[in-house]
Amino acid sequence: MTSRSAAFLRAETAAGRVTAKETVKTAIARAQEVGADRDGLNVFVWRDDEDARAQASTIEDRLADTQPGALLGVPVAIKDNIATLTMPTTCGSRILEGYVSPYEATVVKRLRAAGAIPFGKTNMDEFAMGSSTEHSAYGPTKNPISPDRVPGGSSGGSAVAVASGIVPIALGSETGGSVRQPAAFCGIVGVKPTYGRVSRFGLVAFASSLDQVGVFGATVDDAARGLGAIAGHDPMDSTSADIKVPQYHASSNADVKDLVVGLPKEYFPASLDPEIRRLCDAAVDRLRGLGATVKEVSLPHTDLAIPVYYIVAPAEASSNLARFDGVRYGFRLEGDGLRGMYEATRSTGFGPEVTRRILLGTYVLSAGYYDAYYRKAQQVRTLIADDFRRVFDSGVHVLFTPTAPSTAFPIGAISDPYEMYLSDIFTATANLAGVPAMSLPIGRVGGLPVGGQFLASHFDEARMFTAAYALERALGAEAHA
Ligand code: GLN
Repeated sequence: MTSRSAAFLRAETAAGRVTAKETVKTAIARAQEVGADRDGLNVFVWRDDEDARAQASTIEDRLADTQPGALLGVPVAIKDNIATLTMPTTCGSRILEGYVSPYEATVVKRLRAAGAIPFGKTNMDEFAMGSSTEHSAYGPTKNPISPDRVPGGSSGGSAVAVASGIVPIALGSETGGSVRQPAAFCGIVGVKPTYGRVSRFGLVAFASSLDQVGVFGATVDDAARGLGAIAGHDPMDSTSADIKVPQYHASSNADVKDLVVGLPKEYFPASLDPEIRRLCDAAVDRLRGLGATVKEVSLPHTDLAIPVYYIVAPAEASSNLARFDGVRYGFRLEGDGLRGMYEATRSTGFGPEVTRRILLGTYVLSAGYYDAYYRKAQQVRTLIADDFRRVFDSGVHVLFTPTAPSTAFPIGAISDPYEMYLSDIFTATANLAGVPAMSLPIGRVGGLPVGGQFLASHFDEARMFTAAYALERALGAEAHA
């Protein structure tokens, strides 16, 4: 499947040379071959091969359409916090075990309309809280490149579905780096769109002012096509922006001669792993070689991103997760009276990290602490957003940085939650500022993938893709060596 890109599959399907049924059969066989099951890489929380086959057979009826769908016959894996009608949506949590949504997320509806075939619900850190996909109620997902290591997270299952060649495209979600960081750890492409670019309707809310659906692709083109299919205004999401979506997969136009690339010095600290720095330097040299102008810039409030993120995100999570109370959804455990039922349900249904975030979030929002923590964090968040605005206003088109401070770490290696939170030092800023960002492979260290990150101004994904296409092409096989 890895050699079969979304563009190839769509063209072959539209021309009648490949049937969607054959493609689904190949994906199922590939999942078996790589050991995607619970006792193997543990990629999926739910897969219904019969249903995937049935959906594939409906694609044949569309071949006569004048406009074949943009993802006609392309299987797409979906993170388990995105609502689907035909499969359960559990957010990797016991509290939603077996829960089937009565409605479907806009992004899934758009995938179906584009002719894509939803292929399984992927494993994730519970409620998307985490950076390793070790903290799912359904067990950890493993990195296909080195199965004793994590795939990154929280969208680890979706990253592995693409990295192991089961599907060319997968949907994930981003609150602080959950698509870009696992993309970096697994050697694939991961995109977080501008806040408001993609509908959140049907994405189970974690931190609503940060959350966006993101896309994984085996290549920049696959990811661009995936985003193109789901982006655009949705009246069902009041934060969705009514801004025209350009064609992202104009891959032939990867001219970066007039591009100004900023290197924010805060993302290249003295403590940066020297091997990761070396690969970033080599990537920047390539961009220079293609004619791009490269200059150092500064985003002075970068080091405040993690403290701010870990106040804002838990605050919103504590409010959003109040709905899982044993009455409205899925799991319930009886206790002494109503209050006892709430306590029993929530203390058993939520795992330790989710519980920690709810406690932290409730605390920073409580009377007497709100001003000291939550309000202050929101003020600093504005400073972080202003940093980006200033740099982009000064004529810089895109920023280039490392995606993560390390390569994939061994499963079980990070037990301190704070150390885990630091995985997102280079990614959480984009969510706080709302700007688009993406990770693409730029080489390997000790056999493990390293990602480079491009960030752009609000709604300027097209320029970000142009830079990424150019770099991907210039690096060629080096990106995976
Ligand atoms: N790792 C971060 C967290 O644990 C980001 C998660 C995400 O983007 N969903 O909150």
